[in-house]
Amino acid sequence: MSTIQLSSRVGLFTESVIRDMTRLAIGYDAINLAQGFPDFGAPDELKEAAISAIRADHNQYAITWGAQELRDAIAKRAQEFNNISVDPNREVTVTCGATEAMMASMLALINPGDEVVIFEPFYENYGPDAAVSGAVPRFVPLDPDDFSIDEDALKSAFNNKTKAIVVNTPNNPSGKVFTKRDMKLIADLCHDYNAVAITDEIYEHIIYDGKKHISLASLDDMHNRTITIGGISKTYSVTGWRIGYTIANEELTDGIRKIHDFLTVGAPAPLQHAAAEALAYPDLYYSGLVEMYDRKRHMLFDALTSAGFKCILPEGAYYILADISELAGGMDDVEFAKYLVKEVGVASVPGSSFYTDTEIGKTKVRFTFSKQDSTLQEAAERLESLNNG
Ligand code: GLN
Repeated sequence: MSTIQLSSRVGLFTESVIRDMTRLAIGYDAINLAQGFPDFGAPDELKEAAISAIRADHNQYAITWGAQELRDAIAKRAQEFNNISVDPNREVTVTCGATEAMMASMLALINPGDEVVIFEPFYENYGPDAAVSGAVPRFVPLDPDDFSIDEDALKSAFNNKTKAIVVNTPNNPSGKVFTKRDMKLIADLCHDYNAVAITDEIYEHIIYDGKKHISLASLDDMHNRTITIGGISKTYSVTGWRIGYTIANEELTDGIRKIHDFLTVGAPAPLQHAAAEALAYPDLYYSGLVEMYDRKRHMLFDALTSAGFKCILPEGAYYILADISELAGGMDDVEFAKYLVKEVGVASVPGSSFYTDTEIGKTKVRFTFSKQDSTLQEAAERLESLNNG
């Protein structure tokens, strides 16, 4: 046995359960509705743009905080879509995915012991992000029936140690889209407690039933206390490219850039050039994306409800958090998710990945519908066996 001890930091969290479920799905040849990535191709013109960028020899480091043309494209899009005025030279940092953006933001902002407010259920990365940066997370449960914010619970989570709040809308895993009223409440609390909002807006374009995405930074006075995180992974179906970004005022951006510089130097240069083209796609591209995911949302929702899961139709993003109480026959979420992979041939993510409250987490699993219609169809047929088994 080695005498070398790892840092106490790595003992604070486990490896990603989402990515573990992908490995399990591969091992059992199950349909992977666990990890949120498309099993269909990226847009052809985007692939061509990447190939052209490599041929044009954009193959060396880009400027650490992002290729100029990508930062310009991000600033333009932020103005037009998010209603945020952005200086591309001082307020944008291109990162290796939204994942690095969140970690770099927390490392730039947090001192050990500072508190970070996180709604529950939450995307699993936020736990390790908080742990690595030394933050003390304060989890605020959303209403289990419709994932709405409990105003009193949120207010009581803020105190003089609160440094930041993580706001992920449209939400992974719940599909919740926060309303203007929700955002106003969060903004007021950030003002009252001098806190920063770190917003994860990676699903900003995947939003249904005519709902509008609201960026917190577009609200009065929030520009200076918001780190807006976005990325191209989900909108353009290129999760493996690892291109994300932060938008924040100069002071916050200076800190984020320092951390980013020493973490990764920069995101892949040729893909940054291609990403700049993607950000300039016409409105038709985005309405097509919504139409496609809306169809898939209904396909998976119908399949799950007919198999006996209880779920809420998501308002945005591409996940359904399903209640397994009626189906699991005494199994908890982890046991049931393993059973689904091995016996039914469908992979999901155990609910406990998204909850600190184990009583709630153990009654849920999350499925993604970011898959081809034929994949969802096959999954529906397999899940139907739960009714007969
Ligand atoms: N965001 C995706 C999900 O929740 C992928 C997570 C990841 O592996 N980076 O499934």
